Amino acid sequence: MPKFSDRVERISISGIREVFEAAGDDAINLGLGQPDFPTPAHARAAAVDAIESGKADAYTENKGTASLREAIAEKHRTDQGIGLDPANVIATAGGSEALHIALEAHVSAGEEVIVPDPGFVSYDALTKLAGGEPVPVPLRENLTIDPAAVEAAITEDTAAFVVNSPGNPTGAVSSEADVREFARIADEHDVLCLSDEVYEYTVFEGEHHSPMEFAETDSVVVVNSASKLFSMTGWRLGWVYGSAERVDRMLRVHQYAQACASAPAQYAAEAALRGDRGIVTEMTDSFERRRDILLDGLSDAGIDCPTPKGAFYAMPRVPEGFVDECLDRGVIVVPGEAFGEGGRGSARISYATDEDELREAISTMTEAYEAVQ
Ligand code: PLP
Repeated sequence: MPKFSDRVERISISGIREVFEAAGDDAINLGLGQPDFPTPAHARAAAVDAIESGKADAYTENKGTASLREAIAEKHRTDQGIGLDPANVIATAGGSEALHIALEAHVSAGEEVIVPDPGFVSYDALTKLAGGEPVPVPLRENLTIDPAAVEAAITEDTAAFVVNSPGNPTGAVSSEADVREFARIADEHDVLCLSDEVYEYTVFEGEHHSPMEFAETDSVVVVNSASKLFSMTGWRLGWVYGSAERVDRMLRVHQYAQACASAPAQYAAEAALRGDRGIVTEMTDSFERRRDILLDGLSDAGIDCPTPKGAFYAMPRVPEGFVDECLDRGVIVVPGEAFGEGGRGSARISYATDEDELREAISTMTEAYEAVQ
C-alpha cells in the first residue's frame, strides 16, 4: 500500500472539477474561472519571437528575467503608486504558485492562517499543505471581507491572513477604508497580510486598492497574475512581491520547486504589461455588461444576489437542490460550499461567457429555481 504524507491526505481535489465532470458535453458552463477573451496578439507574438530566436531556450534567473520584473515594478508604480524594487519580485507559475510559495515561506506547523469564507479554494488547501491550520472567517452580508472579523480571529498562533479583492467566488470589492484597515491590522499585530489581487483590473465601481499602498511596515505580500489581467490563464505566469527578506524566503521555495517560471510565458507577460491595454478596458466593459444582464435576470426570477462590483462572478443565495437542478437542465454553476461552509446556501456563477448563452442560462436557472422553490 502506498503511504502518503499526512499533509497531502488533508486535502482533496477541488469540488469545482467534480461539477464539471458530472455535466453533459453540451452544457452551458457558468463554472469556469477564466476570461473568454484571446490573449493579446502582442503577447503571443513576443512568445513566438522568444521561441524562434532561441531566447526562451534556457533557464532565466530564478526570480524571472530582469526586464519582466522591471515591467511588473513599473506597472505597480503606475497603477498604485507603490515604489517597488524589481529585485523584490518573483515571477511564478501563475498566482497559484505565488500563493503556494508565500504560504510555504511564512507558515510553520500548527500556525493559523485566517481565510475568507467563502473564499478561493487554494487558501485552505495550500495552508494545510504548508502544515498550517486555516481559520475561516465569515464575510459580511454584502460578501466583502470584514476587517473587524479578521482582527477578532487573530491569536498568538496566527501567521497570516488572506485578503482577496476583487474576490472569488464573490465578485466583492473591498472599500479603501477596509483595505486601510487590513494594512493597519497587519502592522499592529505583526502578522502577514497576504493580498491576492489577481482580479485587480476587473473593477466596475470605485477603484482597486492594495494594502501594500497603506502598510507602514513590511507586513504585506502581494500576489498577482497575468491570467485574469490579460486573459492568459493557459500561460501560467504570475508574480509575488514583498520586502527583500520575505522575497528571499519565498525564493528558497520557488528555486527548488520551480527553478524559474516558463521563459516563453515570461516574455509574453512582459509584452502584455508594456503593450497596449485596450484589452483590459474591453474586457472590463464587457464583464460589466454581462453582470448587468445576469443581475437583471436573477432579479426577475426572484433570486437574491448581492451586487458584485468586480471580477466576473456573482454569488446569489439559492435554495437547496438548485445547483443539481441546473446541472440536470444543462447549466453548470458551482455550489457555494465548494468555497467553504460560508458558501452553503449560495452558488457561484461565472458570467465570463457568451451573451446569448448567458441569456439562455438565465432562463434555465429561472426554471430550475421555480422547480426547487
Ligand atoms: N487567486 C484567485 C482569487 C483566483 O481566482 C485564481 C484563479 O482562479 C488564482 C488566484 C490563481 O490564478 P492563476 O494561477 O491562473 O494565476
